[in-house]
Amino acid sequence: MFPYCKLKEEDIRAYLPTVTPEQVLASLYKTAPTFSDFLHFIAPAALQVIPQMRAQARIIKELHFGKAVRLYAPLYVSNYCINDCVYCAFKTSHRHARKRLTMDEIIAEAEVIAGYGIQSLLLVSGEDPKAMSVDFLAEAVRRLRRMFPYISIEIYPMDQASYRKLFEAGVHGLTIYQETYQEDLYKTLHRHGPKADYHKRLEYLAGGAAAGFYNVGIGALLGLYDWHIEAVSVAAHGLWLRKKFWQTKVQFSFPRITPIPGGVDVPHQVGEDELEQMMLAFRLFFHEADLFISTRENHLFRERVAQTCASHVSAGSQVVPGGYRAADRKQDLLGQFTRNDRTSVADVDHDLSGLGLEIVYKDWDNCIGV
Ligand code: SF4
Repeated sequence: MFPYCKLKEEDIRAYLPTVTPEQVLASLYKTAPTFSDFLHFIAPAALQVIPQMRAQARIIKELHFGKAVRLYAPLYVSNYCINDCVYCAFKTSHRHARKRLTMDEIIAEAEVIAGYGIQSLLLVSGEDPKAMSVDFLAEAVRRLRRMFPYISIEIYPMDQASYRKLFEAGVHGLTIYQETYQEDLYKTLHRHGPKADYHKRLEYLAGGAAAGFYNVGIGALLGLYDWHIEAVSVAAHGLWLRKKFWQTKVQFSFPRITPIPGGVDVPHQVGEDELEQMMLAFRLFFHEADLFISTRENHLFRERVAQTCASHVSAGSQVVPGGYRAADRKQDLLGQFTRNDRTSVADVDHDLSGLGLEIVYKDWDNCIGV
């Protein structure tokens, strides 16, 4: 469990099966739901009232976001990694040719993404500071800011001074997944490398918020553990961050494990209905929070959640360094996960617009400060 969560796992396990659909419905229409209401939303009984949850989540989402859905795209700059997470294709023990982009290659990839109309960029890399130094990343960000008004990062954790350097270069969002909040399980999945330290990893987001990032993103890798318990930890982590860093917005992602080369055991499979339930629960509890959905999920599912709960949808994503340029796609490059939605940006725009949603490419610009 998230260490500062006051609930105990055994109490949550005992409570959730006792929740009735009537209790879920009673929680659904509260203007200020409590954490007990959140528990009702993730309880098994909530699966019986999903249509009502969808309808209410849609009302809440439209109240805070209107019909808007933000599109973004990841740019993978390196797949070198010094950690050995058993569930990830980038793990250091996976023998495969690696690639880190040069500055020119980063700009070339970015030009392809910008050509799709994307203006919100997520810079992603494996966790290897030697492959991607802070100074190199800062220079890349300074150049990329000419093309993208909003840049966030999902790279390796670093100290506050380094985060500040990236913030001043133009990064405004930071994502670090704890992967699982179950400390014992965490230790078995992350035996080597800096990521092995569970508590230290948790602290980095606070360092990022203190460094000035406007948005911090969190999430658990779904499939590693019982999603109900992880959902409680993610929500508790979000509340904790919000309380400590009220000036920073907390964002939530819901990555499910997808197949990787060599295969990976998924000990706690999360079905599509459960994933939707979890996302609805977060919308119903965190009314104003940004909820992200990536191309790990299929197109129809992404369309469904974009209408009710997801505020940010990735589009046209490539998950290998150099993947956006057609020539590189022919190479055997190492991607981080399997994409289940390869729809182009134009088609994502077309399909979501057809559902009455308003596609937003740019909702952020600097007018003061960095
Ligand atoms: S999850 Fe992150 S840290 Fe772990 S192997 Fe993959 S890229 Fe490296």
